Amino acid sequence: MRNDTEFHVAVMAGDGIGPEVMAPCLDLLNAVSTRVGGFSCRFEAVEAGAGYYVQHGTALSEENLKRAASADAILLGAAGLPDIRYPDGREIAPQIDIRIALDLFAGVRPVRSIPGLAGPLSDPRAQSLDFVLVRESTEGLFASMGKTRIVDDATAYDTMEITRTGSERLFDFSFELARRRKALGSPGMLTCVDKANVFGGFAFFRKIFYERAEKFPEIDARAAYVDATALNMVRNPWAFDVMATENMFGDILSDLGAGLMGGMGVAPSADIGAKHAVFQPCHGTAPDIMGTGKANPTAMFLSAAMMLDWLGERHSEAKAVEAGRLLQGAVEAAYAPGDLRPCELGGTSGLKDITARVAEALAKA
Ligand code: ATP
Repeated sequence: MRNDTEFHVAVMAGDGIGPEVMAPCLDLLNAVSTRVGGFSCRFEAVEAGAGYYVQHGTALSEENLKRAASADAILLGAAGLPDIRYPDGREIAPQIDIRIALDLFAGVRPVRSIPGLAGPLSDPRAQSLDFVLVRESTEGLFASMGKTRIVDDATAYDTMEITRTGSERLFDFSFELARRRKALGSPGMLTCVDKANVFGGFAFFRKIFYERAEKFPEIDARAAYVDATALNMVRNPWAFDVMATENMFGDILSDLGAGLMGGMGVAPSADIGAKHAVFQPCHGTAPDIMGTGKANPTAMFLSAAMMLDWLGERHSEAKAVEAGRLLQGAVEAAYAPGDLRPCELGGTSGLKDITARVAEALAKA
């Protein structure tokens, strides 16, 4: 008899609403793995964040980073609090420290409408959006973090870095993603989003994009300027499939994508590298609603579904992929009747209501 696969998942609940959305998420992960069978998740709590910093003087200890890195995947709630900062004023963000330490170069931000949860666009086609933005997460303008040069208190310089290695792996990852989506019925299109008409660095980025495109002839490779892309994400977002972009552009466009889905509380994300991956909701710790029961756990649940899909693909464990689809489907089924309206969108559905509806949908699926 075949033994079940056990996935070791490092759980960083973090601060603010992080632990609130994480607790029901772990229950759902247990429920879905029991339901599907063939695999299970072993959760290991790993502390990190602003609260941990107050107690230990570090947001993410070497030992905790090592524990997280030894897991098959990392599930993160949200970390950092506005009033707790490093002496130089920087915010505490272990999620960024992990991204750097584990070389998580692909920031995957799916923009997928949730049927029954109306987004801000009135066009009926906006009710079935399904595209993915891949944000390069190790270089670009963010390479200048901590290296700003201010000359004579008169001029500040932040330098954008685009490397061949960084671009090639971003594009290869994005083409692979477009290919996988195509097999499931998507158009098979990848758009390189840049500003190649103005900056030589982006012309270089686009050149590498078309070089890599040759390896993926079945994918329709296109390029677009970031300003036009921002316009089109509002005007006809249903026309996108997969987009790949530089770090800073991706940072901005992914929040626009979250807005199209209906807000931060429903937007999931993954930061993926060659060996490791972190799954976390796009939102922060939302200290203003912490402890009120208003936190929307949807983005956390969808991030966990992405984790199951990634683990399943990586370890050739079809049951985990199936469980990820089931969890995502349960979220969609919970919202489908249209009466679940999260507090952040002016409704009255809070953490408990949303969790109960997703659990119910999962049990019925
Ligand atoms: P960060 O800088 O880490 O992104 P932030 O406080 O600036 O954090 P968020 O925490 O993402 O930004 O969210 C901004 C506001 O959106 C919150 O203050 C909260 O009111 C609301 N919000 C965010 N996430 C959720 C959620 N899951 N459920 C309900 N409301 C949320």
